[in-house]
Amino acid sequence: MKKLEIDALFKYTKSQFDKFKDNRADNKQYSMGDAVQSGLAIFSLKDSSMLEFNKRITERAGNLKRIFKINNPPPDGEVRKLLDEIAPVQIERVKRGVLQQVKQKGLFKEFEYFKGYKLLLIDGVHHFSSKKVHCKNCTQKKHEDGTITYSHSMLSAVIAHPEKKVVLPLCEEPIIQQDGVTKNDCALNASKRLLKKVRTRHLAEKFIRVEDALYANDPHIRDIQTEGDKFIIRVKPGSGAGSVIEQYEALLKITDGERAANKKAAAKAHKLYKWHGIEKPIENQPAVHKMEVKEEKILKVYHYVNDLYLNETHKDIKVNFVHYEERSIETGKIIKKFQWITDINLTDTSVVKVAKAGRSRWKIENETFNTLKNQGYHFKHNFGHGHKNLCTNFALLMMLAFLIDQIQQLSNELFVKALKKSEWKKYLWDDVRSFFKTMPFDSMEMIYNAIIYGFKIEYLAIRQSSD
Ligand SMILES: [Zn+2]
Repeated sequence: MKKLEIDALFKYTKSQFDKFKDNRADNKQYSMGDAVQSGLAIFSLKDSSMLEFNKRITERAGNLKRIFKINNPPPDGEVRKLLDEIAPVQIERVKRGVLQQVKQKGLFKEFEYFKGYKLLLIDGVHHFSSKKVHCKNCTQKKHEDGTITYSHSMLSAVIAHPEKKVVLPLCEEPIIQQDGVTKNDCALNASKRLLKKVRTRHLAEKFIRVEDALYANDPHIRDIQTEGDKFIIRVKPGSGAGSVIEQYEALLKITDGERAANKKAAAKAHKLYKWHGIEKPIENQPAVHKMEVKEEKILKVYHYVNDLYLNETHKDIKVNFVHYEERSIETGKIIKKFQWITDINLTDTSVVKVAKAGRSRWKIENETFNTLKNQGYHFKHNFGHGHKNLCTNFALLMMLAFLIDQIQQLSNELFVKALKKSEWKKYLWDDVRSFFKTMPFDSMEMIYNAIIYGFKIEYLAIRQSSD
């Protein structure tokens, strides 16, 4: 395993937070670096609230200093005040520095999936909502009774690999009111800003964008191709690319017999098959390739067609189509069904990879955002809203803590062993928190060791620092 250890990463983030611009007057009881690192520590330790962090400051002071390099931990009010002032771009920059180290260790390369391309997925999460508290950045939902719900959401672009449990969040983009725009910001607009960020920050990377049916349209597909990426986008009947499904269904009706017979008769008189107004000899129509794979009690059915067009108005945009279903061999019932368009040339080999990648979208939902929501990150808790950037900065610090945890799961054997011992992430965080509160440790690695092997007092007596 190429290791990028957690303690070195905490040291790095603190050294960067220390450099943040501080506009306060001289009277600074608490440093900016200590305040931002405290925000990160809250999400690293998975404290359930700012109050929990606050309540334990005294008993945790030693470990906060040794592990998180926080010299003088500020109380919650100070953390909020200072975080509210910071431009989110500063925190994003630190996260980029962490990702740079991931690249340097060669860990990024492990995510290559198809001909040097990595799968890029986007999803969002709602992280603040209130009927009273709001700021100029909140998006608003007006209700019939005249009340308004104010909220903050964030989109994240992650790279994923169908065979990996870990995803790496590359960039975030808050869905917030944009300067000079009166209409609510929306996921589609935020995703455009997000992808621009991804492109400028990861120039050398080749991505296959794995996206929702919402994105199966022009000019989006054209944009993807202009940027040199490829796509696998889910399609549904009646959506922007619903016509592709109709083309596939029409082609499916041409039997092999008809194709063969027509080929023979082709020299004499072409029997034309009308298909969306285009009359082409049957033998020249794209063929539906079919493939079946048995896997235990499941029959996996793949149909694929190359060289269709996006829709009636965009016949110049060529797309390939995959229909995938899983059937129970016993009952013949369809258990799952998915359809995608892609610009990857489809063969018996590539179609399997495309379907697998398409299905990996669930990974980001199940393993990124559900991890954030259900495995202790307290994403939906309101840690505070502030007046300027607090809400966004908390969400960014949480994504940074999440990235550091994902790197551990990807590269740190000790973390993997500790997770195995605790069984669930939620229990691992509980174990880390209880050790962190009760015993002095020099490093997070030492806590992982204590979780894996248990500890003896003699072991803990071996200390490197003098305090
Ligand atoms: Zn707000």
